Amino acid sequence: MPSSTSILLKNGVALIHDSDNHVVPTKTDILIQNDRIAKIEKDIEPDAAEVIDCTDKIISPGFIDTHRHGWQTQLKGRHANELLLAYMVSGNAQACQFSAKDVFYGQLAGMLESIAAGTTTVVDHAHITVSPDHAKMGIAGAASSGIRSVYCYTPVMRIKSWNPLTYHDNPLEDWVMETFSNLASEGPWADGRITLGFAFDLFFLGAEVVKGIFAVAKKGGIQTITIHSAHGPQLGGGWPGGITQLLKEWDLLDEHILFSHSNNIDRADADLIRQTNAHISSTPSTELQMAMGRPACFDASFLDGKSAGLQDHASLGIDCHSYISASIIGEARIGLQNARANFNEYYLQQGKTTAGLPDSLSVEAAFNLATVKGAEAARMEKDIGRIAEGFKADLAIFDALSPALVAAAQHDPIAAIILHSSPADIDTVIVDGKVRKQNGRLVDTAVEEQAQETVGKANLSWVDVAKELVGSRGRMQAEIDTIDFEEATATLKKVFHVDESVFVAT
Ligand SMILES: [Zn+2]
Repeated sequence: MPSSTSILLKNGVALIHDSDNHVVPTKTDILIQNDRIAKIEKDIEPDAAEVIDCTDKIISPGFIDTHRHGWQTQLKGRHANELLLAYMVSGNAQACQFSAKDVFYGQLAGMLESIAAGTTTVVDHAHITVSPDHAKMGIAGAASSGIRSVYCYTPVMRIKSWNPLTYHDNPLEDWVMETFSNLASEGPWADGRITLGFAFDLFFLGAEVVKGIFAVAKKGGIQTITIHSAHGPQLGGGWPGGITQLLKEWDLLDEHILFSHSNNIDRADADLIRQTNAHISSTPSTELQMAMGRPACFDASFLDGKSAGLQDHASLGIDCHSYISASIIGEARIGLQNARANFNEYYLQQGKTTAGLPDSLSVEAAFNLATVKGAEAARMEKDIGRIAEGFKADLAIFDALSPALVAAAQHDPIAAIILHSSPADIDTVIVDGKVRKQNGRLVDTAVEEQAQETVGKANLSWVDVAKELVGSRGRMQAEIDTIDFEEATATLKKVFHVDESVFVAT
């Protein structure tokens, strides 16, 4: 039985959601006992608690990232000018370069970057399952970071060779679902902080096979099954009728489904997702860059009626931190401003304008996508996403006197966070009642026991992690430099049935 711990957050301004999900900045103390918020009121006596002075601090619910590929740290920086098809070769397919140890460090560092940015929960679409050890080290990396994670085990197409690019014939060799079932009986991990989810994209295997796999996943007690729903010509247009309709036809669409992207869906699909209480994760930066369409997380982007938004069932994700920073607030900001541009443009095209922005395009709406709506999408709305007694102590504490936040924080803390802040303004991050960032710096991590033999250490500072990453990245790059990308891209176009005529010369 772990010993009881308590932390008292003294004299901060807490961002507390009311019953209508409006945020009420409230000057208060917050007492944390073990992993949960025990009391929210003024002038709590410290007793035996560790006291954190929150004078001139904003206490926010920790942010929730509902679509992430946490392993990809060593690939950061290479996708700056790429669209989706190119990424499938230079990013997604490079899973084959990662040893199990590389996965541990990639996952750990990706999650630490998130914690530094105030994210306390991640739904990880972990498509790094090239062996049982890779899955185990991914889970160990997430657990060691201190973050809360739904680690979604993912059957993948494994690469057999480059030059030419070939794949292993059978993506469902016996070990794939056996490993899943073993993990399902072994988890959850880290006092329940890491739970097992499932992710799946191999729908070409056909209805019977896919139904069988989903049945195994459900039997494993899985609460979240996450699926890429990416449309558009970059990947051959996706499924005829779309992935939402396919799941409906195969009787697999229910409240456990979390689609990522879902750009450019029509109203019928949006209604279907609402009716079944499934959810979506919008990842504005990657969607805007990679020609995937307008993010569906703000309805006001769709006044032209060409496709539909799904703001009431949406949340935010990073997708690839190999593309962009892992700040969910960064995604809230770029998503919000993009939607405001779409909204304004709709009227400007008609020679008109509006007197103001609608509530659905407010900074509070963006903040809610990063908090309460993220919790709903992750199916954890009774535990995370808001500051309330009995909820998990997952918090991001901002410095209201920082150069970026001062004056904004005192006027409107939500505006300060959404439009003015960066991870540098986050002084303290608490996950599951434990301090993971303090005085603006990540605290050292304890390596999960099952990874200690692979890692060779029991504790890691951020500097240790960064040095390992530089070495790991360099080893991979030497291999990546031998790849014929032109040949690999041509092969991938055939795999995805991409229509060459859709590509316009630039
Ligand atoms: Zn993705």
